[in-house]
Amino acid sequence: MAQPNISPVSTHTRNEALFERAKKLIPGGVNSPVRAFKAVGGTPRFVQRAQGAYFWDADGTRYIDYIGSWGPMILGHGHPAVIEAVQKAMLEGFSYGAPTEREVELAEEIVRLVPSLEMVRLVSSGTEAAMSAIRLARGATGRSKIIKFEGCYHGHADALLVKAGSGLATFGNPTSAGVPPEVVQHTLVVEYNHIRQLEECFALHGKEVACLMIEPICGNMNFVRASVPFMQRCRELCTQYGALLIFDEVMTGFRVALGGAQSVYAKSIPGFKPDMSVLGKVIGGGMPLAAFGGTRAVMEQLAPMGPVYQAGTLSGNPVATACGLATLRELQKPGFYDALGARTRSLVSGLTAAAHKAGVPFCGDSEGGMFGFFLLGQLPQNYAAVMATNSPAFNRFFHAMLDKGVYYAPALYEAGFVSAAHSAQDIETSVSTAAEFFAGL
Ligand SMILES: *Cc1c(COP(=O)(O)O)cnc(C)c1O
Repeated sequence: MAQPNISPVSTHTRNEALFERAKKLIPGGVNSPVRAFKAVGGTPRFVQRAQGAYFWDADGTRYIDYIGSWGPMILGHGHPAVIEAVQKAMLEGFSYGAPTEREVELAEEIVRLVPSLEMVRLVSSGTEAAMSAIRLARGATGRSKIIKFEGCYHGHADALLVKAGSGLATFGNPTSAGVPPEVVQHTLVVEYNHIRQLEECFALHGKEVACLMIEPICGNMNFVRASVPFMQRCRELCTQYGALLIFDEVMTGFRVALGGAQSVYAKSIPGFKPDMSVLGKVIGGGMPLAAFGGTRAVMEQLAPMGPVYQAGTLSGNPVATACGLATLRELQKPGFYDALGARTRSLVSGLTAAAHKAGVPFCGDSEGGMFGFFLLGQLPQNYAAVMATNSPAFNRFFHAMLDKGVYYAPALYEAGFVSAAHSAQDIETSVSTAAEFFAGL
């Protein structure tokens, strides 16, 4: 049951104590930076347990969870079918370092549901999947350069931690210390949704480009869609220059639709398919599991068949694959995405109406169970526009919602997630909580 939220200061003693303890031994007190609340300030909530659409922090406060582990928990926390599958798998052994039937089953399931994939390899994180996909694209094409877009996140492999340099003829700059400039010298960074800049980039470098990697609906700069004409041009230019089009669907795969964002674009662009795809998050259902895949011709370049090396001690882990399989099976029940999409839209439209009623500029967008919103009159189309939005206003909104038990992503450049466990009542509570805040501005 909901706990009373009296005062944000006095009720968070145990979260604060844990954060202090954590900071002594773990850099920043967290094992992944966004969890530290650095963008919004304040004390991170240490989660004690979660069930359905909620989690409870170390002080026993309940939150409506709009992060869902950054996407994987699409069924909500503790779904009975998933728990049962994981418990059964656990008793049979945690890891063997030898192949299992469940890996084959999961590969069959993924390939059946995502039509562009003919073969897949399972790995343990999205970072690993994206990094391996790029190595494979380079190995398969014999080319070195890669194109990425400003604001798209593909995990933390060195060659991908890069922002735009001073022009397209020059190369990008590392966004992290510890990444030598030589390591990103083959990474070209283009503005998202900028067709002319992309054409110019291909005209200059196209014959040396191994692949173009894109988040088709970008969830790492809040929520920004690649426009249909832009996506069409990405496809045409890759085909024209012999580069591989790689969809990073770590976030969008099985989240925005059963066939991923590629199935959404295929509705507007007949016959549309990427050459390779990267998956993660939902396919593990909350366990460490990710994958990359593509056409047979490309995937057969991978060791032990081909010359491109890639490996992993825990890859295709038997407990993780059980969790992923059970999750994917639930998603295929009739009407799953219709219901999820409708619920997510009702949150975004409710928040928008509440803000507008109070005269607060607000807009949002969603696809399936993934959403984003901005305290702005219109949706931004690229990274610079997202970063120019009013972050103090977002931070006030974030903390006001958090204090009332509604947990959104603790940074304005992150997307949000609704699960099948979020009820109409949860959405209504979230909207009325926001309405009170907007009315008080
Ligand atoms: C989360 C994410 C990754 C990285 O996945 P990890 O499992 O955190 O390594 C890569 N690409 C996208 C689009 C993501 O959202």
